[in-house]
Amino acid sequence: MSDLLSRTHAIALDAADPLRPLRNEFLIPCHGGGEQTYFVGNSLGLQPRGAQAAVQEVMRQWGELAVEGHFTGPTQWLSYHRLVSAQLARVVGALPSEVVAMNTLSVNLHLMMVSFYRPTAQRPVILMEAGAFPTDRHAVEAQIRFHGFDPAECLVEVQPDEAHGTISLTAIERAIAEHGPRLALVLWPGVQYRTGQAFDLDAITRAARLQGARIGFDLAHSVGNLPLRLHDVAPDFAVWCHYKYLNSGPGAVAGAFVHERHHRDSTLPRFAGWWGHEEATRFQMAPQFTPAIGAEGWQLSNPPILGLAPLRASLDLFERAGMEALRSKSLALTGMLEALVRARLSNVLDIITPADPHRRGCQLSLRVIGGRERGRALFEHLRGIGVLGDWREPDVIRISPTPLYNRYLDVHHFVEEVEAWAGL
Ligand SMILES: *Cc1c(COP(=O)(O)O)cnc(C)c1O
Repeated sequence: MSDLLSRTHAIALDAADPLRPLRNEFLIPCHGGGEQTYFVGNSLGLQPRGAQAAVQEVMRQWGELAVEGHFTGPTQWLSYHRLVSAQLARVVGALPSEVVAMNTLSVNLHLMMVSFYRPTAQRPVILMEAGAFPTDRHAVEAQIRFHGFDPAECLVEVQPDEAHGTISLTAIERAIAEHGPRLALVLWPGVQYRTGQAFDLDAITRAARLQGARIGFDLAHSVGNLPLRLHDVAPDFAVWCHYKYLNSGPGAVAGAFVHERHHRDSTLPRFAGWWGHEEATRFQMAPQFTPAIGAEGWQLSNPPILGLAPLRASLDLFERAGMEALRSKSLALTGMLEALVRARLSNVLDIITPADPHRRGCQLSLRVIGGRERGRALFEHLRGIGVLGDWREPDVIRISPTPLYNRYLDVHHFVEEVEAWAGL
């Protein structure tokens, strides 16, 4: 075994890691006398220590100020959603006016499709990946039916064409070209939740726009995982949630991006609500709707302030770290996990996530050799000893070392425990 894969080397890398202090900013769940080894930041990120203070501040304002809390001080609730825009914009590579924190992911996906899925008899088709996260599939099918079209004809799913169930860019581009004149919308994930495959958003956007189709991204597994450049890549819209890599708590308020080129288009239909009305005249309470310029104009309700508070605490940590530094540690962490699995567990685990680091983020999706039951057994064993991944049917264990709070030693620990379980 090479020294680079030794426990000693992992400890040395942790000691030299410039992002190391950030781990102390999170509450790490306990197991036995120690800490859990937590690899599920792609499902529910850990709680930032600052989250409780942010929530407490809102509770205090409510108690002390009641209705005046809407209008008092720098964290007044009237513009609270805007407290996160600049930082969130940096995380996704957008202009502050292009992002908004609102609702939840599935709701935002529907709201965006109301504006950007406008099927006609000539162009009724939505193209997406086969095996998409269920809510995306449900929402797309519901939208097609809502417009009076038939999903059997208007929903095209691109099948995986690579060995472990991943999809080549060639297959995506071919499908977009093939259905081109009939495409109303391409909806694609940034990172596939089951395989961990990251897609070339630039190329997919170009291919869709070349055909005159709208393009939207579901970035649930990309935001806070990979550096993004949404403004430059220029899809029509994107949606994501904040409870995964963004650490903002269960059911956290989600995010949406609407590209600047749409901000002043008054012909776009939308499901309007009063919080999307321009702020200067909102409280004149007039019957007609004048949208706020920017992604804010898609808001419906006055936002759940308590739900937004933890996002502020988490974004402060992203601001401290910087997405580029997080990505470079992530490449090293996940790269170490991959190298260790290949060197020491090649008889136990198959890696289904692409080997090319450009085609993945933090997550490695692993399939246990010997079948589903053996896979379940390993997963339950690890959970029992406080090493947390998650299970995705039918047979995948997902392990996501996240650079904000995982250590190189955590990765090492995982590999040692799998070795011991397998009797190696
Ligand atoms: C996590 C996830 C969701 C979750 O949707 P919610 O509306 O937040 O419950 C949706 N789509 C994808 C691709 C996801 O990974």
